[in-house]
Amino acid sequence: MNRKWQYTTLSAAVLLLAGCGQTHQAASSVTTPGASASAAHSAISTTAAPHWSYDHEHGPAHWAELETGFSTCRTGQQQSPIDIEDAQLVPSATVHPVKIHYGTTPVNVINNGHTIQVNVQNTDNYITIEGQKYTLVQFHFHHPSEHQIDGKNAAMELHLVHKSADGQSAVLGVLIQPGSDNSAFRQLWEHLPDQASEEAVPLTEPIELSHLLPADHHAVHYTGSLTTPPCTEHVSWTVLQQPIQLSKEQIERFATIFPDNHRPVQSIGSRQLYTEQ
Ligand SMILES: [Zn+2]
Repeated sequence: MNRKWQYTTLSAAVLLLAGCGQTHQAASSVTTPGASASAAHSAISTTAAPHWSYDHEHGPAHWAELETGFSTCRTGQQQSPIDIEDAQLVPSATVHPVKIHYGTTPVNVINNGHTIQVNVQNTDNYITIEGQKYTLVQFHFHHPSEHQIDGKNAAMELHLVHKSADGQSAVLGVLIQPGSDNSAFRQLWEHLPDQASEEAVPLTEPIELSHLLPADHHAVHYTGSLTTPPCTEHVSWTVLQQPIQLSKEQIERFATIFPDNHRPVQSIGSRQLYTEQ
């Protein structure tokens, strides 16, 4: 049976223009989980060259034209994000829930010009998808959400980016809706960098990463891509069906830095969207 999406969607009125975001490109430069922190950081510092953004001129519709290495953003057949329609979900007895092993972890934070990215500073956090282990490298945010549910964006979306030992990417997506103040994000939110920088700033206290997630880990599973240039494919996507909440004030705080850093939904094509039975 399909589990119902447990959140209310946002009206299209909140879809504003402008903004910027880079994360996945930096993440894709990290080839081994063990190299996470320093490699992710140096990747950010060196990938400023091709100018892409979320505005019109250098925005998602033009990413493929900005650099030959970005061509997959246009020619790819398995791009993300997508509109997840409830009627299209395929419950499968062979699909198992993602197993999430997160703990208390030191992090640093950077505004890379495209999003707020949080780099985890150890390799202790991992997820297991169908027996394959993926280690958490970084997480970041989009406003509004990138994935849609039945055609509607959520207020925000959290992406937790993982890498397997052989370099495969897996992203855990968590939709965010307005609601209660979320204490798990409080320290991070007090240190959101307003300005883009090449310097990541460490948070004083470690973050309990498991507290960032909803209690229910049932999800939609599909094969997609990075949602930022170079739009690399063969990314294993796990979009949790239970959202988390941030207060209106917490969402607005992020929105002042990034009014819009989401890529529009891409064609699903012949892909299947699986859920656990
Ligand atoms: Zn993302």
